[in-house]
Amino acid sequence: MLYKRSSALFNEAEQVIPGGVNSPVRAFKAVGGTPIFAKSASGAYVYDEDDNRFIDYINSWGPMILGHAHKPVVDAVIEKSKLGTSFGMPTAIETEIAELAVSMVPNIDKIRFVNSGTEACMSAVRLARGFTNNDKIIKFAGCYHGHSDSFLIQAGSGAVTFGSPNSPGVTQGTAKDTLLARYNDLEHVEALLEANKNEVACIILEPVAGNMGCIPPKEGFLQGLRNLCDKHKVLLIFDEVMTGFRLAKGGAQELFGINADIVCFGKVIGGGLPVGAFAARNEIMNYLAPLGPVYQAGTLSGNPLAMAAGLAMLKELNEDQDVFNRLNAKTEYLHKGCAEVLDRLNVDYTINRVGSMISIHFYKDSVVDFETAALGNNDKFKAFFHGMLDNGIYIAPSAFETWFVSDALSYEDLDETIKAVEKVVSQLK
Ligand SMILES: *Cc1c(COP(=O)(O)O)cnc(C)c1O
Repeated sequence: MLYKRSSALFNEAEQVIPGGVNSPVRAFKAVGGTPIFAKSASGAYVYDEDDNRFIDYINSWGPMILGHAHKPVVDAVIEKSKLGTSFGMPTAIETEIAELAVSMVPNIDKIRFVNSGTEACMSAVRLARGFTNNDKIIKFAGCYHGHSDSFLIQAGSGAVTFGSPNSPGVTQGTAKDTLLARYNDLEHVEALLEANKNEVACIILEPVAGNMGCIPPKEGFLQGLRNLCDKHKVLLIFDEVMTGFRLAKGGAQELFGINADIVCFGKVIGGGLPVGAFAARNEIMNYLAPLGPVYQAGTLSGNPLAMAAGLAMLKELNEDQDVFNRLNAKTEYLHKGCAEVLDRLNVDYTINRVGSMISIHFYKDSVVDFETAALGNNDKFKAFFHGMLDNGIYIAPSAFETWFVSDALSYEDLDETIKAVEKVVSQLK
């Protein structure tokens, strides 16, 4: 495939945008080469500026769970925009999407909308600190919760890919309040809680990790965290920015039957427009301004176009009783197909999958935390990535990312993908 126009556009972008991109993972640094520039997308496919077609497994990093340019979402945004694009006043649609979200997700009474997953997680932690009157937080190595200061301590995906887990600009003062635990290791968490008695406000995690590849929680891990939080009077925050409205209507809370105290959303909840949200039961949410003392605000929060896209998306997911079954079945088909090929080619690999999140690690043993995720063969991944790209399959340009399956993918698309895996991997050897 030729990427002439993309290369030219990237050179031009580099002159006026740092690294040519507005979010680092887009830059292909982890895999080498120059990023391709998207021109349009429809259903399962994204088209670049050179008019190449790719079967898309990034789907805008999750939001396009029903495929690109999904008609009900696009129509909702067009219609809404004719009525004015922002008011800075409350609007009826904010209540409408809030009511729907609260009805779909277990264990939440109120929800506050923001503009990104980063804002959602940052605000959730502030709320937890205000509510508990404690400063420290526990996060897990390899989990990503956006780019706010407290979280840039061994964060996953982009931050890890660039080898700058502790970004300059994050002060020691901030870093000392973030305690780092090993994913899937309850004893480690318990030891941190014992060593910091009455000082911890919350434990925040991705209930299924998706920013070090896909890593499922071990049996009993989430329940164990719930028990530890109850025992130590610490709030449990599920960062469901990736898993929310993806693994089930009610996200990971519903799938695993575990209640968190605060839940963060992003990605799918905005239907492809910039939306994040955080939610909890009344007791906690009423701590937020203007009802309570914890401040949080946003000029464009609850923006009508963003709410229109999000509402159209959630309605589709709520009304289609079969959508999550279809997503699971498609991802399972992809999993089996890839596993069969990789077995036959005798490559070291592990595939992790939960619902429509899946990742291939070029490593022979189980991948259960950040350390084991980092043992994957990165050179192999780089060659695999570029091979897939040249065969018309667009996966995330880093071994530390999950693939996002969309319902727009047909079984023919999945077969084409499995064939590409076979062709590309057999050429790697
Ligand atoms: C993407 C992501 C975020 C950050 O969301 P942004 O909208 O990029 O700020 C936070 N947490 C998780 C789990 C994510 O996957």
